[in-house]
This record gives sequence, C-alpha cells and structure tokens, in this order.
Amino acid sequence: MTRLIFLGAPGAGKGTQAKTLADLCEIPHISTGDILRNEVTQGTTLGIKAKSYQEGGELVPDHLILDMMRERLSQPDTKDGWILDGFPRNVTQAGFLDDLLKELEQKCDRVVNLDVPDEELVSRLLGRGRPDDTEEVIRRRLEVYREQTAPLIDYYRDRHQLVSIAGSRSMGEVTAAIQKAIDL
Ligand code: AMP
Repeated sequence: MTRLIFLGAPGAGKGTQAKTLADLCEIPHISTGDILRNEVTQGTTLGIKAKSYQEGGELVPDHLILDMMRERLSQPDTKDGWILDGFPRNVTQAGFLDDLLKELEQKCDRVVNLDVPDEELVSRLLGRGRPDDTEEVIRRRLEVYREQTAPLIDYYRDRHQLVSIAGSRSMGEVTAAIQKAIDL
C-alpha cells in the first residue's frame, strides 16, 4: 500500500515522476491538472468554471478543487493507494486533505518534494509545449507556486512527512532516488 503526495515547482518533473511511480506501484496517478484540462476539453460545468484560471496560470478556486478531490478519492480504485500530483496546492487544500483522509480512514505515507533550481524550470517549461505553457503564463505559475504552494514544503517537513529529492538529474536517476527514499 502506497500513498504519496508529490510536490514541486512547475517544470520540476513532478508529473512524469508521479506517473512513473504510479505505474510501478500499480496505483492511480491522480493529477488535478490533468483532470482539469480534461474537464476544460470536454466543456463540462467544472471545465467552464476552471478554464480562465488554468489558462492564466492562476489556481482554480479551492471549493471547486475540494469537491473534485472528495469525489476522486472516494472512487474504488483508490483503496490500494494513490499518488497525488498537483494537489494540495496551498495550505487550505492541505488542511482539507488532512480532514478528508481522516474521514476515509486513509493515511498519506510520504510527501515527495522534487527540488530543481529556478533557472532550469523555465527552460524545461518552455520546451514542454503544453497549451498553458506560454512565457507569460509560465512566469505567473512560478509566482503562484512560490507564494501559495512552496509553503507546503515546511508544512509537511514540520509533520515529518517530507522527503526532498534533487530533481536535476536524468529521469531514471530521479526515479531511482525516489524509490530509494520511500523504500519501495
Ligand atoms: P499542473 O498540471 O499541476 O501544472 O496544473 C495546471 C493548472 O491547473 C494550474 O496552473 C492551475 O490552474 C490548475 N490546478 C491544478 N491543480 C490545482 C489545484 N490543486 N488547485 C488549484 N488549481 C489547480
């Protein structure tokens, strides 16, 4: 049973590593960014509400995310574990997740923080070519990360759940370092 939260700045390789680890552990990779992009493409009510925030690099309002995650973490495939990628994104969401996990009688094992120097993030993001990866949006997403998401590093360090991994290495090396650190 593995339950992990992945933290990292945009461009740190969080999505790729979360997906790889989830495949290795045969558990769901739950990416709030992917879910939201899919809702936007499908033109659902949630997608219509989330679109402008996502396209501008802002966080989608908490209440929308919280409802979405309550629903996702209540699905039967989460019983054997999960990897959360992109959630929680601020301290309010982290508090909500604590309460939700208590309610679901689940416990997160570790929080994996991928550490990549700032100058590397922008070049990685520009090379990625996602529709919400224009230079202006990238700059804003990095700001939002620093202001709202980076405080989660201390939040989880204080709770002795944090594992920090140097992310400026090849994909395989980072995966191996994560596996070693979480003892899988
Ligand atoms: P990501 O794919 O994780 O980089 O997320 C892309 C975009 O989706 C973000 O810039 C936000 O607009 C939105 N998003 C993803 N996860 C969250 C979340 N937990 N809370 C609020 N907005 C989110």
